Amino acid sequence: MITIKHALVAAAAATLSLVVLPAQAALRVFACEPEWGALAQELGGSLVDVSVATNALQDPHQIQAKPSLIARARSADLVVCTGAELEIGWLPVLLQQSGNAKVQAGQPGNFSAADYVRKLDVPTQLDRAQGDVHAAGNPHIQTDPRNIGLVAAALGARLQQVDPANAAQYARAQADFAQKWQQAIARWTQQATPLRGVAVVSQHKAFVYLYDWLGLKELAVLEPKPGVEPTASHLQGVLAALKGTPARMVLFAAYQDPRPSEWLGRNAGIPIVKIPFTVGGSDAAKDLYALFDDTVARLLAARAKP
Ligand SMILES: [Zn+2]
Repeated sequence: MITIKHALVAAAAATLSLVVLPAQAALRVFACEPEWGALAQELGGSLVDVSVATNALQDPHQIQAKPSLIARARSADLVVCTGAELEIGWLPVLLQQSGNAKVQAGQPGNFSAADYVRKLDVPTQLDRAQGDVHAAGNPHIQTDPRNIGLVAAALGARLQQVDPANAAQYARAQADFAQKWQQAIARWTQQATPLRGVAVVSQHKAFVYLYDWLGLKELAVLEPKPGVEPTASHLQGVLAALKGTPARMVLFAAYQDPRPSEWLGRNAGIPIVKIPFTVGGSDAAKDLYALFDDTVARLLAARAKP
């Protein structure tokens, strides 16, 4: 009798605890750029609640640490950013203002994608007179899908670390993504074969990883120094140089003012190519796969022009 009564009480208590305990809340991920928000969503699925600080039409070097962003960083469990000084003008302030100890630099809740790839354009000597140089190397790592693959492996491991209760699910999602992503890279690389060795001009030094992947050759950059708006005299100099060594196309990122590229395209008689640069940078680039489908398609279309 007593045993049964105890069992009933225990059962009632168990039922009650199910009612009063909150449902397992999703892991709150705060991503600095859309590509990392999209990657966290691929790897976290319904286990994560992703919020992205910027959209594809904003310059990720220059964002205001607005109160609404600070509030989102305050409640984040994991901050996922590019790093390599891309967000040096706004993220340190944002994190400091958030007062969120979990997501400060060096904590498991702070993830920098660029830590997991080989950086290009690392300056041998640091001279700020050379413009807004990125001392840690070029931070625009997301333009090479092989980098996305490396970051995915590291981010998958980090999700398991900060949310160990769901580690098995993250591990499955990561393995699944890795397999599909490798197949997609093989497809894009194959499609992009005609781009190998093609000479191009860039508006900003934003595509070095894309060029490294596809074998494109950067002849000139329209910004006289990284982050410095193109000047008329510098544009004239690039145009003059192209007379001897022609380029096939000029590339700019979706967030940039297209006018310098348009000017060069018109005067040099070459197509301009808007690179979506991140998820949302074009109507087609709705997710990470579509981002590279669209990037490769746009480059091939420009290459096909006479
Ligand atoms: Zn840059």
